Amino acid sequence: MPVTVNPDLQAIVDRITADMRGREDRGKVADYIPGLARVDPRHFGIAIATHDGRIFSAGDATTAFSIQSVSKVFALTIALGKVGDALWKRVGREPSGNAFNSIVQLEAEQGIPRNPFINAGAIVVSDVILSGHRPREAIGEILRFVRDLAGDDDISIDDDVARGEAETGYRNAALAHYMRSFGNIEHPVEQVLGVYFHQCALAMTCIQLAKAGRFLMLEGQHPESGFNVVSPTRARRINALMMMCGHYDGSGEFAFRVGIPGKSGVGGGILCVVPGIASIAVWSPGLNERGNSTLGSLALEKLAAATGWSIFNERDPG
Ligand code: GLN
Repeated sequence: MPVTVNPDLQAIVDRITADMRGREDRGKVADYIPGLARVDPRHFGIAIATHDGRIFSAGDATTAFSIQSVSKVFALTIALGKVGDALWKRVGREPSGNAFNSIVQLEAEQGIPRNPFINAGAIVVSDVILSGHRPREAIGEILRFVRDLAGDDDISIDDDVARGEAETGYRNAALAHYMRSFGNIEHPVEQVLGVYFHQCALAMTCIQLAKAGRFLMLEGQHPESGFNVVSPTRARRINALMMMCGHYDGSGEFAFRVGIPGKSGVGGGILCVVPGIASIAVWSPGLNERGNSTLGSLALEKLAAATGWSIFNERDPG
């Protein structure tokens, strides 16, 4: 099926939202982070920012939620801006095939995480962002970056979520200490985790998140200023990583069903990028057994089917 030219996106998102609202099987809200366990699983929101500057949205698209691991895309972008390709000496770029918080590969692979989107990889990325900064400045840099990308200064960090995660984040602490023993964490573990937990606690709406992802559909260009946030090559590579690693051990399934680069988070959000066409954010807090939003994934599958936006579809050769 070729890409549909000018699909009626408002009708499509309205239809998908009505469909999702009626579904019973929503998965389970993440309960290992206290602030997330309280979220109502009935939420569903979707927003699409298109290449020509339009926004289409439906459902709870203006309700803020915890973006969690979706933030790893923005953190990776900042870290690459700081150290460039040297980052790849400390983090791999292969799918892990393991759970997002798994420690098993780290021993065999000498403290080098498989990719920047599993927790271990994102913790190394936080360590890179922390270089030359106090933790509070590093957190401020991430917040300012996301606000600038979205063109929205109302975005904030939910300190309660960050605190709750710090209090219960034994696995992340284990990952960080373990990597430090291999010399792959340079700063004190508490500081690195502080940056990581605050970045995960970014609270954003679907509309804000879809807007923040626009540079990745525009070959790295900032949609408002026109400046390069990253080079076209780097934008392509970040999208490739999202395709291969953005859903952890569910990445293959997501590529199979949806066929669009995407990054999920345990808050139930997913950011997807259709290069040259759209940046999409969906949110539904119930998760499947891999920690990816159940209805969010289904909604994206329906959207890809209705629009022909899978990157594996026929494109006009021009
Ligand atoms: N902050 C969460 C954690 O570290 C992020 C995990 C996720 O969204 N998959 O466990």
